[in-house]
Amino acid sequence: MRLCDIGEFGFIDRIAPMGLIRPEHVVRGIGDDCAVIELDDVNCLLITTDLLVERVHFQRSWSTAHILGRKALAVNVSDIAACGGIPRDAFVSIAVPGHIELEWLESFYQGMTSLAGEFDINVLGGDTTRSRSDLVINVALTGVVPRDEVLLRNTAQPGDIIVLTGPTGQSAAGCEILLHQHQIPDSLADPLTKAHLDPRPHVKEGRFLATCHCCSAAIDVSDGLSSDLGHICSQSGTGALLCEDKIPLTEALSSACRHMGRDPLDLALHGGEDYVLIATIKEASLSRLEDEAKHQGIDLFPIGILQEKPGIEIVRRSGITEAVPPRGWNHFTKTSE
Ligand SMILES: [Mg+2]
Repeated sequence: MRLCDIGEFGFIDRIAPMGLIRPEHVVRGIGDDCAVIELDDVNCLLITTDLLVERVHFQRSWSTAHILGRKALAVNVSDIAACGGIPRDAFVSIAVPGHIELEWLESFYQGMTSLAGEFDINVLGGDTTRSRSDLVINVALTGVVPRDEVLLRNTAQPGDIIVLTGPTGQSAAGCEILLHQHQIPDSLADPLTKAHLDPRPHVKEGRFLATCHCCSAAIDVSDGLSSDLGHICSQSGTGALLCEDKIPLTEALSSACRHMGRDPLDLALHGGEDYVLIATIKEASLSRLEDEAKHQGIDLFPIGILQEKPGIEIVRRSGITEAVPPRGWNHFTKTSE
């Protein structure tokens, strides 16, 4: 058997029970955006780590070292945001092939620390080693969150309203433009390629949801809306019913998809790396929350409701309800699943 036979999540399910030797003070181990560990009576420590591998997660020719440095940290900041936390201290390890110039590496670290500065994050250590082929980047990041504000994936309930903190599909469209070098006007392509190369972690939105006391679960969109909502559903024991009419599609996404012959809804449902948050909200509190969000300049898009029936469904504009199979990024088949 190989990893591609069971996928990333099948592998995680197999190894997760082995790691928990000392369970006291561990609120959540493997299986959420961050590990959550009790620090004291009030606060929890959040820890997340992500690996970026050249030619698997990024192409160096697509972006500058500065922008890549920003993204390497941003994807970790997004995991802290998904747990409702405040990011704190980062550790950065890289395996560097011999042909990479020192100037490129300095620019990479300048990019990373520019994002660190925006979110008040220290970079406190890591490891540097040689790689025989590709560039490999690993970032580990800590954060803090009060115990009664931590947002997890396994605590949603049927009847909760599903909200997004931003549109999805943008990053996948940007990735397609870069990959296939589609000839699309800059005014359309730029916001999409920026969404892919230089995503904004939704820390402000995560803190808003963590402190509203009506958010039952959250996750960030790394693998795709269908896949990541699927994690909330499977871990909470629910299904979901989405409404096509409510899925936010930006004008840039719709126009670029017309040029590329792609379906914008398909990218919005299954495209990954948007790093917006999916959250579930108690229905009775939704209108109050929408008012508060507007007041604070935060976007909230209600897109559906959790239901008891397992699986994800969508009500199409035609009124027909269809199944939405989870079809996000699978790291081991190296294609969309
Ligand atoms: Mg995540």
